[in-house]
Amino acid sequence: MKIRSVVPFILHVPVTGSQIADSTHTITHWGVVGARIDTEDGLSGYGFTGTHAFLPGDHLVTRCIQTCYAPLLLGEDASDIQRLWLKLARDPALQWIGRAGITTLAHAAIDVALWDLKAKAAAVPLWKLLGGQVRDRVRAYNTDIGWLSIADDKLVEGARRAVAEGFSGIKIKVGSTVERDLRRLQAVRKAIGPDVTLAIDGNGKWDLPTCQRFCRAAEQYDVFWFEEPLWHDDVKGHAALARATSMPIALGEQLYTQDAFSEFFHQQAIHWVQPDVTRMAGLTEVLRVCETADSLRLPVAPHAGDMSQVHVHLSYAHPACKVLEYIPWIKDCFTEPAEVVDGFFRLPQQAGAGTTPTPEAWARFRRPAE
Ligand code: MG
Repeated sequence: MKIRSVVPFILHVPVTGSQIADSTHTITHWGVVGARIDTEDGLSGYGFTGTHAFLPGDHLVTRCIQTCYAPLLLGEDASDIQRLWLKLARDPALQWIGRAGITTLAHAAIDVALWDLKAKAAAVPLWKLLGGQVRDRVRAYNTDIGWLSIADDKLVEGARRAVAEGFSGIKIKVGSTVERDLRRLQAVRKAIGPDVTLAIDGNGKWDLPTCQRFCRAAEQYDVFWFEEPLWHDDVKGHAALARATSMPIALGEQLYTQDAFSEFFHQQAIHWVQPDVTRMAGLTEVLRVCETADSLRLPVAPHAGDMSQVHVHLSYAHPACKVLEYIPWIKDCFTEPAEVVDGFFRLPQQAGAGTTPTPEAWARFRRPAE
């Protein structure tokens, strides 16, 4: 498993419709910015991070992969995942310029590629390598029907359609105005009835007084969780909101390290834990967060199953993972897409982490890596 080459890549994949928006972002494409790691015995592992398909930013990540991390990896044994994680994360020169951000996104791509390689070398799907199947099914909830850019009537229509397709959970975006978001929440709850879980996601837009005002009025709609109500790093604010409302608080998709999660745990500012292998430094760091969450009896809902592919494997194998997000923009770019059937993610069967792009996606969506 000696590493022969590390090749960065970029895919720009269109989102559903021509454009989507939440409270803070409007995008047309999702960036799959990654690394292919080839070994001397002929295997290739793929891993990637996620971006808003902003090419100058994507190039910062691919340059980090190519010029900073590749030289540390060439000639190494790809199966030494923990040792290589430390080698990259604790490199004196690199940790000085970034213990979070571009270096971590690039590290995510590398770490996932190594897990993909290890599972391929063992000829098993990744969930088997992670300890095997711990649950029969992984429940999916649908976020793709709930963007802020969707008009009220279409939002209700999409929620009904998702339930008819078998989803037992949906999530809608909030963070515009309290009045508009309450109106939409009420309409969706009325349309789907009491038995479907309904979560909301603020994407860090509001301040604490706005969240408190919104929560007082929204509690009657049985909200499954309020995700990223406040700015991503605001531990004290989330702790204050958690004390002020009966709604569970969910967050984590924008946290880079286990230390960042630890602050939220210690301050009792989080109820649903949402790490992302494409944001943190890969599956290796996410597993540490899952273990800590499990020890605290906190449920994990990894961010977006199909936008990492890996989260499906993780959710089948880790006892802390309870439910997984569905946003199907990039799933068809992979040889084994993270498919949802009757509201549940299908158990992956192919060897690896599910991160191998198809030749069609490679040809259609690839952009210059530098
Ligand atoms: Mg979110």
